[in-house]
Parts: sequence; C-alpha cells; structure tokens
Amino acid sequence: MDFSLSQDQQMLVDLCEKIAQGFEDSYWQKIDEEYGFPREFWSTLVEQGILGITIPEEYGGSGLGMVEMCLAAEALSSNGGDCGGMFVGGPVFGGCLINSAGTPQQKAQYLPGIVKGELWSGGFTEPNSGSNITTIRTEARKEDGHYLVKGQKMFISNIKVASHIGIMCRTSPYDPARRTEGVSLLVGDLPNPGIEARPLKKMGSHFMDTNAVFFDDFKVPQENLVGEEGKGWKALYAVLNPERLAIAASGIGTGNPAGTLPPAGKLPRKSIVGGPSWPGHFFPVLTSREIPAPCNSRTSLMPTVENEPMVALRAVNFGNC
Ligand SMILES: Cc1cc2nc3c(=O)[nH]c(=O)nc-3n(C[C@H](O)[C@H](O)[C@H](O)COP(=O)(O)OP(=O)(O)OC[C@H]3O[C@@H](n4cnc5c(N)ncnc54)[C@H](O)[C@@H]3O)c2cc1C
Repeated sequence: MDFSLSQDQQMLVDLCEKIAQGFEDSYWQKIDEEYGFPREFWSTLVEQGILGITIPEEYGGSGLGMVEMCLAAEALSSNGGDCGGMFVGGPVFGGCLINSAGTPQQKAQYLPGIVKGELWSGGFTEPNSGSNITTIRTEARKEDGHYLVKGQKMFISNIKVASHIGIMCRTSPYDPARRTEGVSLLVGDLPNPGIEARPLKKMGSHFMDTNAVFFDDFKVPQENLVGEEGKGWKALYAVLNPERLAIAASGIGTGNPAGTLPPAGKLPRKSIVGGPSWPGHFFPVLTSREIPAPCNSRTSLMPTVENEPMVALRAVNFGNC
C-alpha cells in the first residue's frame, strides 16, 4: 500500500502545521486554565478554509475525504493543544451528519454555516448508554408540527458555544429484538429554553465544555428530522466513525513532536529509561514517526533501555468524545 501523500495533501499538511505554529503552548495553556474556547484558533481555521475540508464544494467546502481531515487534524495538533479533534464540533457532528443523511434543503441550510465556523454539539451518550448506545432513553414525541424531546444526555461537549445540536433519540420504544430500530436524529437550535446544561469538571480538553444535559420538552421543528424517522441508526456511522478518526489523528499529532520538545521547565532530569524527562508530562510515548519496524506488538512500542534513544515525554490527551 502506498502511504505517500499527494502534492495537494502535502500542501494541506504544510498549511495546517503553519497554522499550528501560530498558536504556542502559552496560548493553549491560557485556554486550558480558563476553560475557554479558542476563538482565535477557530477563526484561523475558518479563514484558511480548513473547516470545509470534507464539505462538498457546492456548499463552500473542498469536497475532500476523511484522509484529508485526519491529515489536517494531525498537523493542527503538531504544536500542542490536542486541538485537531475540534473538527468534531462542526465538520463531524454537523457536516458528516447532514452530508450523509440530510435533505437537499438541510444541506443548503447548514453546510455553508459549518464552513464559516458554526459550532455543533452531538447529543448521543446518556448516563446509562455509552458503547451500548442503542439503549438510549431520550425520546421525542410529535406535537403540532414539532418534536418535543425529553431525557438526559451525558458528556455532551460544546453546548456553551454551539448553535446547533444533533440529537439521537427514540421515536419508538427500545425493542431488544430490533435494537437499532426506532432511533431518530434531530437537529436542535441552541440556545433553547428546553435544554439545561450542567458543566462537568474534567482532566484535560478544557477548550471544550463538557456537560450533563437535560431536555425538557425541547422543541424541534418536524422538518429538522435528519433521514427517516426511526431509521437514524445507519446515519450514525457517518458521524461516530469520523469522530473517532479525527480524535485519534489529533492524538497522534500531539505525540509526533514530543521527541523534539525542549524541556518544559527548568528541572530536567533523567528518566528511568535513561532519556531526558520533563516535569509535568506523565507518560512516555513513542512518536508515530519513530515507530521501529517491525512493530507488531504493543510492547515493541514501549520505551526500553534497548530501543533508546527514547523519545517523547508529552502528555497525550487521548480524549474520547
Ligand atoms: C471529554 C469527553 C467528551 C465527550 N463528548 C461527547 C459529546 O460531545 N457527545 C456525546 O454524545 N458523547 C460524548 N462523550 C462520551 C463518549 O462518547 C463516551 O464516553 C464513550 O462513547 C464511551 O461511553 P461510556 O463513557 O459510557 O463508557 P462505557 O461504554 O461504559 O465503556 C467503558 C469501558 O468499557 C469498554 N466496553 C464497553 N462495552 C464493552 C463490551 N461490550 N466489551 C468490551 N469492552 C467494553 C469500553 O471500551 C470502555 O473502555 C464524551 C466523553 C468524554 C470523556
């Protein structure tokens, strides 16, 4: 398999690395300490057309694919911040959802806004439904041309800044024999009086707020149903798989430069594997560009005295959205 990049892909990587270099550790540290949203960084992504990578050209995007989005996510994280995963808060939760299952009207309504930086939340996880996502209990009932959504979601990111939320809900009860049936996807507008978000304290990824969310007759116009009622399961693949890929690529991007980092403080010391160590970084990781061949087991990636020079001490936030 040929893993070399095309000229266009390389240009995209170069551009994203250049963008990343414009945002130093001190920028990300301030954002992190203040639980703030990185507006300047996000605006730069808009200016450079990065948020439209996977959006079709007719809606203002570049019409490229997941490979390009992952290359961009990795490159954007190459200077710290683990920020490449931010693709999730627009191009994935909004873009992938609408592009894969939306009507032509929904595409025209939402996709151009995503290219211009509109943020999206994704409401999937619930207190008792994570990996076992078919067991969600949030339900939507129809009334007077609207859906009224009731239920609770957990770990929902970007509520504070998003203008839309993709909501996964049940429009018919859970049937253990047909678990994926009866799941519907709605687009809700934010802010909205029918939603309450309680921010959660967490370790890392403070650039996005993450919340316990309560829907109490949250009103969604019926035309905001994405795809067919009760048949939303399939469209979820187009959202949840890209989400995981973007976040993984961002984690790799964060790890890649670790071997070249200067000591982040004035107290460098020897680590137990003999290489340098940096205060505040808790886990030694091998950068993906330095993976020794053959590398067919997890242990071959782990730092040992034998496979020095080792590498990278950088806290990689393998955040999971
Ligand atoms: C910072 C952060 C932001 C998030 N943002 C969002 C968001 O914006 N929107 C949203 O909807 N969700 C969000 N999430 C939730 C995230 O998607 C879930 O945490 C994830 O889907 C896993 O669900 P869970 O936490 O319930 O873990 P569980 O499903 O309980 O899994 C716990 C562990 O058990 C393992 N496991 C589960 N089932 C099995 C099985 N059958 N066999 C073997 N192992 C299994 C899992 O791999 C995992 O290691 C966020 C989470 C975090 C931490």
